[in-house]
Amino acid sequence: MLGTLAGLKKTYPDAHCELDHTDAFTLLVATVLSAQSTDVGVNKATPGLFARFPDPRALASADVAEVERLIGTIGMFRQKSKRIVELAKLLMERHGGLVPASLEALVLLPGVGRKTANVVLGVWFKAPVGVVVDTHVQRLTQRLGWTKQDTPEKIELELMKKVPRADWDLVSHLLIFHGRRTCTARKPACDRCEVSAMCPVAGNAENVGRKHF
Ligand code: SF4
Repeated sequence: MLGTLAGLKKTYPDAHCELDHTDAFTLLVATVLSAQSTDVGVNKATPGLFARFPDPRALASADVAEVERLIGTIGMFRQKSKRIVELAKLLMERHGGLVPASLEALVLLPGVGRKTANVVLGVWFKAPVGVVVDTHVQRLTQRLGWTKQDTPEKIELELMKKVPRADWDLVSHLLIFHGRRTCTARKPACDRCEVSAMCPVAGNAENVGRKHF
């Protein structure tokens, strides 16, 4: 497994979070908006949203209908609009307009689960307390034989045991980069995969690790 991790590091030296953001607040909001939506789609909507509502104070007093218009291209935009305005209000009320740097405080905010909290803690605060397991991470860890688990929670615990803590943030970005560019859900490109020599399902992966959640 560590050999594959090294291979992915070599392949994607620039692996990073692909949600556009400029601070902890914009990263938190973008991550909430990305639930069941693509990063590309979120990145198209957030420049307009953050130009109008650049910080928690502005978003907390936003008219939800205006937010809906600004993010109307994102799936579940009505629900998400309400959620991010509520999120901004709670940031103002409980945290003085700052994004808290603790998992316990983050998961009490609307729309923020463990995965979103891990993204903010790992990407912005550089202090991950877990590993982000999204659909790509789930599929790739199963294909690569890193886990036999099939829920994000159990896969995260296994990764936290196996991956050196210093790589907890990076490992997700590496797997997501590889999952988007090469090891896609429907057509994994095993013939041009840089880590195929270490992959137990190389050439026969189409039905392994497909989405269950
Ligand atoms: S060999 Fe195929 S299944 Fe294995 S990691 Fe590469 S693309 Fe994915």
